[in-house]
Amino acid sequence: MTAAIIDGKAIAAMLRAKVASEVARLKSDHGVTPGLAVVLVGTDPASEVYVRSKSKAVIEAGMAPCDHKLPATTSEQEVLALVARLNADPAVSGILVQLPLPPQIDAQKVIAAIDPLKDVDGFHPINVGRLSSGLPALTPCTPAGCVILAKSVRGSLAGLDAVVIGRSNIVGKPVAQLLLAENATVTIAHSKTRDLPGLCRRADILVAAIGKSEFVRGDWIKPGATVIDVGINRVAGEGGKARIVGDVAFDEAKAVAGAITPVPGGVGPMTIACLMLNTVRAACALKGVKAEI
Ligand code: NDP
Repeated sequence: MTAAIIDGKAIAAMLRAKVASEVARLKSDHGVTPGLAVVLVGTDPASEVYVRSKSKAVIEAGMAPCDHKLPATTSEQEVLALVARLNADPAVSGILVQLPLPPQIDAQKVIAAIDPLKDVDGFHPINVGRLSSGLPALTPCTPAGCVILAKSVRGSLAGLDAVVIGRSNIVGKPVAQLLLAENATVTIAHSKTRDLPGLCRRADILVAAIGKSEFVRGDWIKPGATVIDVGINRVAGEGGKARIVGDVAFDEAKAVAGAITPVPGGVGPMTIACLMLNTVRAACALKGVKAEI
């Protein structure tokens, strides 16, 4: 069997187009322009790249960007004061503080200071709690993207066995909660899990969020399974040129799985698309308009 390749780029582009038409409707029917505030502290090169692509996507969707670039020496108090201003600003529908933050700033404190209605990353304890209680919530973007990709292959996930490798607050735990909300039977694996290959072999849906290049081998995969590879790992390629690989040995897995996400071009593009979706939904909730997306 050769797996179908799940085209995250195309699915993300479709989602972004839907967001753009919802934004157009909000503007014309309700006079509302969703705005996303992105706060970047310091000059981490990877974070700068993410922030640039987020701002580009905001503009493409017809929303209002509001970027705040602060020096690496910014104090926690200054970041908290900025978050308070953004919470109070009616032009701002979503607030995203780019992580990681410099060591003098407590990221948890900053996340907890964001208005949960504007928490488009879905990391605020209120949104985390609402998600695990099965209540409507702003949900983390990469996990939401994983579930959209799995559903693009399977339709309903009800009753399927899902294994999530990784239990971080950013990916593993929320992806497991979202799969549970889709009525999958979910197992979360981590570094202390016994017989990980055996566990993975039972999975109809396998989500790998480990951060170790090509860790999941082909013979760990149940024939026909849907494999969602979240990993982004930089390795030396031919001629010493860096290339990006996932947490799954792609060529081996492709020979066994029913469908698989490539890296790059799978989960990655979904993160920003889901951020745009969260921003437009947050704008609707804040303005009391029923979202049509
Ligand atoms: P973390 O390092 O926070 O978590 C990694 C998880 O993997 C931990 O729960 C850890 O277990 C588990 N793990 C590590 N080693 C093993 C092992 N040998 N066997 C089983 N489990 C293991 O990473 P993140 O969740 O933040 O990210 C995971 C990957 O996803 C990274 O490659 C990251 O770059 C990528 N990523 C991609 C995004 C995208 O947009 N596509 C967005 C966010 C992340 P334990 O808890 O026991 O230590």
